[in-house]
Amino acid sequence: MKKMKLKGRQLMLLFLTWIIVVPTGIVYLLHTQPVPTVNWLWVGLSVLLGFLSLHYPIIYNRKPVSLFVWFTLPIFIMYGLTIELIITQVIIALAVFARLKKGNILFRFLYNSLAYFILSVCAAIAFFLTGAKTGEMDMGKLVVSVVVYQIVYSFLYDWISKLYEVLTHRKRRGSVKETLLHYFRMIIAVPLALSLYFVLIHYGAIGYLLVGIPFFFMTILLRINRKTDDLNAYIQAAGKIGQQLAKMTTEEAVVQEFMTKTTALFKAEYVYLFKHYDGWLEPTHFYVEARKVDVPQVRLENGEGIAGKVLSNKNRFLYSRREQWIERSMTTVPADLESLLCVPLIRHQEIVGALVLGSKKRDGFKEFHLNVLDLLSSYFIVAVEKARYIERAEQQSNRCALTGLYNYRFLEQHLKHEMALIHKGVHQHVAVVMLDIDHFKKVNDTYGHECGNLILKQFAHLLQNECPENGIVARYGGEEFVYILPGYSAATALGFAEELRSVIEQTNMRIENDLSGPMSKEQLQITASIGVSAAPEDTDEAMTLLRNADRALYIGAKQAGRNRVGGYVK
Ligand code: GH3
Ligand code: MG
Ligand code: MG
Repeated sequence: MKKMKLKGRQLMLLFLTWIIVVPTGIVYLLHTQPVPTVNWLWVGLSVLLGFLSLHYPIIYNRKPVSLFVWFTLPIFIMYGLTIELIITQVIIALAVFARLKKGNILFRFLYNSLAYFILSVCAAIAFFLTGAKTGEMDMGKLVVSVVVYQIVYSFLYDWISKLYEVLTHRKRRGSVKETLLHYFRMIIAVPLALSLYFVLIHYGAIGYLLVGIPFFFMTILLRINRKTDDLNAYIQAAGKIGQQLAKMTTEEAVVQEFMTKTTALFKAEYVYLFKHYDGWLEPTHFYVEARKVDVPQVRLENGEGIAGKVLSNKNRFLYSRREQWIERSMTTVPADLESLLCVPLIRHQEIVGALVLGSKKRDGFKEFHLNVLDLLSSYFIVAVEKARYIERAEQQSNRCALTGLYNYRFLEQHLKHEMALIHKGVHQHVAVVMLDIDHFKKVNDTYGHECGNLILKQFAHLLQNECPENGIVARYGGEEFVYILPGYSAATALGFAEELRSVIEQTNMRIENDLSGPMSKEQLQITASIGVSAAPEDTDEAMTLLRNADRALYIGAKQAGRNRVGGYVK
């Protein structure tokens, strides 16, 4: 069954088509081909088993394969199209309404009802064209006709699915395998349906047991197999996230990446990170729907609250519904939070923190998610440790590890040095030009943090190229950069800044998109806002000069609309 959201008009159109085709078609058939006397037990059992096989489909390759046709096909051969159409519709309605919570019910019902109506009618026509008739007893003839029935059914099903994908602009991957799988189900359905038909005729309702038991047994086996498939997919995804985390160079970046990727992988709306102090936990990062939110001021002592439980028993745990944990909770929790997954973060056999994932769904998490989360959090801890090391090393050096530019530490020293030269009368002027990339958060959000880093590197390279001979350029903060330009007055610095702004605007940045599907190489233009301040015009104190440039940047450039140069105004 497929689900998606449709706009009102499309839904209306679907509804009208459905009215014209399905109810009208059934009424017409009831008049022209009335239902003969039927065995209601068989019809009822077919509906029940058909519903069950649709509701608990075989999952193969993470896609549901439902074989309910083989319960409806014997009814068709025995009693004709009209009753088969009706029971198929009943089965679909039952299956759609049994999954009330998932997606747009009306759309799913209309779409499936219409699709299966067309399938039933066309396959039936093909069946009768082969010369078979209702109640056919000639085995040889039946085999041919049922095969034809299934071929038409399968091809049409395939086409309708493709049409659906085109109409809804939903391209799904792996479709060759899926198509094969789809035809494979035909191979199962034909012998099953024929066996059921003959056994029903000769031995009665016992046929459902004889043929049904092995079928559902197979379904269960394949469902178990699916769990292994799921686990493998998760482990693979976790490995990928681990690799990305390893590339981050700041602790904050690691945390951000980890929190958002975890949200996506586990479909957890809430992700809470706690830090372990001496015997208590304190929240450090809360993310809701992949967005960072404020953390509450709480301290969870050993065993207190949900996360505190990992301190006392050093063990991970899973809750599948709200009643199981709500009484333990110490903080105000979202009203729609249901399932929880909680693991301790362990480094060198010591708990360094705790991680809690929350889902709005009941049974939102599975037992095996705990293992995956354990694995992921070990990647996380290693990445944090590495990032901290880099940050520490960076603080002790003059250079920024990512861009190779001078870092803030050096910038500060150098500016003081230049200012001293002014005081000694070596230079007349010194200017500070400060840049902040516009809407950089959007770049990260759209293309991923790693791509953001790639742009920062290219941006730094550009700035270095544009740097005048006696000037220096440094990375001031995340996506903020500063030039120190000895000998530049406010006016010359403004001229330089304007030229720089224009070069930036015209430069293509290479990007590698790692968020949307397969890696694709694209280009992107960015802009920067620039603030300028100079000594001795604006001030003769080093730190004030930086502050002035910052103010000029925010008031004169950002607030004025971005991609602009602002001079400091007293
Ligand atoms: P604007 O400056 O135009 O107001 O918008 P902005 O989106 O650039 O906003 P702001 O300057 O507040 O945000 C800077 C963002 O830069 C936040 C952070 O995610 C990102 N950032 C900071 N440091 C790094 C880094 O080292 N790598 C990457 N990829 N992103 C970083
Ligand atoms: Mg900024
Ligand atoms: Mg910015």
